[in-house]
Amino acid sequence: MSTSAASLYALLHPSPAPPPLIAAPPSDRPPVCGRFAPSPTGSLHFGSLVAALGSLLNARERGGRWLVRIEDLDTPRNAAGAVDSILHDLDRLAMHRDGEVMRQSGRTDAYAEALDTLADEGWTFECGCSRRDLAQGVYPGTCREGLPPGRSARSVRLRVPAGNIGFHDAFQGLMTQSMEKEVGDFVVFRADRVVAYHLAVVVDDAEQGITEVVRGCDLLESTPRQILVQRALGLPTPEYAHLPIAVDANERKLSKQNLARPVAVDPPGAVLVDALEFLGQGPPRDLARAPAAEVISWAIAGWNRTRVPRRRTAPAPGYADDPRLRSCFQ
Ligand SMILES: [Zn+2]
Repeated sequence: MSTSAASLYALLHPSPAPPPLIAAPPSDRPPVCGRFAPSPTGSLHFGSLVAALGSLLNARERGGRWLVRIEDLDTPRNAAGAVDSILHDLDRLAMHRDGEVMRQSGRTDAYAEALDTLADEGWTFECGCSRRDLAQGVYPGTCREGLPPGRSARSVRLRVPAGNIGFHDAFQGLMTQSMEKEVGDFVVFRADRVVAYHLAVVVDDAEQGITEVVRGCDLLESTPRQILVQRALGLPTPEYAHLPIAVDANERKLSKQNLARPVAVDPPGAVLVDALEFLGQGPPRDLARAPAAEVISWAIAGWNRTRVPRRRTAPAPGYADDPRLRSCFQ
């Protein structure tokens, strides 16, 4: 081949491009999706606002989606009007969700299917023990090899394997738990015929494509159970990030039970700034007078995961000036 023919050949058949110096992120990684999953036991209070805001900012800062799911399986604890009140407050605070609101009460078929899969694959067994039969602590395995004579099935438990389950929590670091020694075979279908939280939450996170679970530290210890259910069902494990729980002067979690005040969303800027302060984001105080949408825009642009306090509890504003609390947290 002559020189000119060779260059013509090169033009017509360019050699493959050299590999890029920096590897592109894998394109099969699912898009970032976070969620806020309140139980409708009352209005939004400071603790639930922190979980909502932390999950929203963590998803939005990377251009991700943010979904809302109502965890309303525990029917006796549901309060009338709570769902509307929570959704209304989120709107007032410019915390705008993507997609439809999922309600766990409409998902019983999906949970039944997951229970069938676990049973078919030998993960679960029927348990005839009542609460009175069981001492506090790890389940002793009474019904693991079959119901004892004279007992009928009350609940369904998941058979836990030996060994530890560990995960890296974005805020709390490495967590490991011995399922066998610290948890024991746990209930996935309750004696009151309701699917257990650990199963429902896993099935729903997978259905909604959740990649990031940002929530309060009260669920940190139960995360290994959820990871085990994910593995048993062949579902992906999202990233976990457990925020400190907002506590009152007696170090109790703020909840309806201890009469946490509903957040005052009018004007909305002030409570958002309080929540951003709690999350370590250092918002300027004048932001408290800004419209909610402006506060949220500032917070998304500046969201810094490394500034979230690495602790399990922290005082909620308004409780922080209590001298008893100061001594607890210094
Ligand atoms: Zn039993």
